[in-house]
Amino acid sequence: MKAVLLDRDGVINALVHHQDAGVVDAPFTRAQFKLLPRVPQAVRALNELGLRVVIVSNQPGIAKGHLKAELLKTFERLMLSQIRAAGGRIDGIYYCLHHPDAKVRKLRQRCSCRKPEIGLLEQAAADLRVSLSECYMIGDGIPDLLAGSRAGCRTVFIGRWKCEICQFTESPHVRPAFMAKDLWEAAQLIRSEMTGIARTIPPPSCVLAEA
Ligand SMILES: [Mg+2]
Ligand SMILES: [Zn+2]
Repeated sequence: MKAVLLDRDGVINALVHHQDAGVVDAPFTRAQFKLLPRVPQAVRALNELGLRVVIVSNQPGIAKGHLKAELLKTFERLMLSQIRAAGGRIDGIYYCLHHPDAKVRKLRQRCSCRKPEIGLLEQAAADLRVSLSECYMIGDGIPDLLAGSRAGCRTVFIGRWKCEICQFTESPHVRPAFMAKDLWEAAQLIRSEMTGIARTIPPPSCVLAEA
């Protein structure tokens, strides 16, 4: 395996409960942008396995009028500086900024980059000069698993959801290779697989029931 494609919200940074709108979504303010525990260390651990690490993220917040493009850049700087401080390296960041119902007209479109479409993954793999079959796709949403599966990646699901999600993740194009509670645990599972250390990897179903 050559590279890891990471979703952003829920994998790198925490999701935010926007009480006014009653939704759980990406951060919309600088104060809301918080890296999840051990993420910089996990990126470094993946780098140490010889893996390139890139981010492939749907970010329709600008299209929906939730935040300005500059803030997305601010989030990027916060994220990269914390990862770099831990000795980790991100080799590229790819966003889909579109949304079919966008308020901002130029971002209102059905595109081929919004996951579960695979445009972002293809772009990242082309820039890295790797094949998508040599990539892990790690995400906390069904669109991440679908995109990864369609693109031929090995998929890893991040989540602590209750077991109800299993009815969805069992379907053939969603079922991940691994499930992990956070990126650090995902990096450990990838290390086990890549170094061939015999270790029981929990089956990708119902392992979250205890969470
Ligand atoms: Mg996500
Ligand atoms: Zn797009």
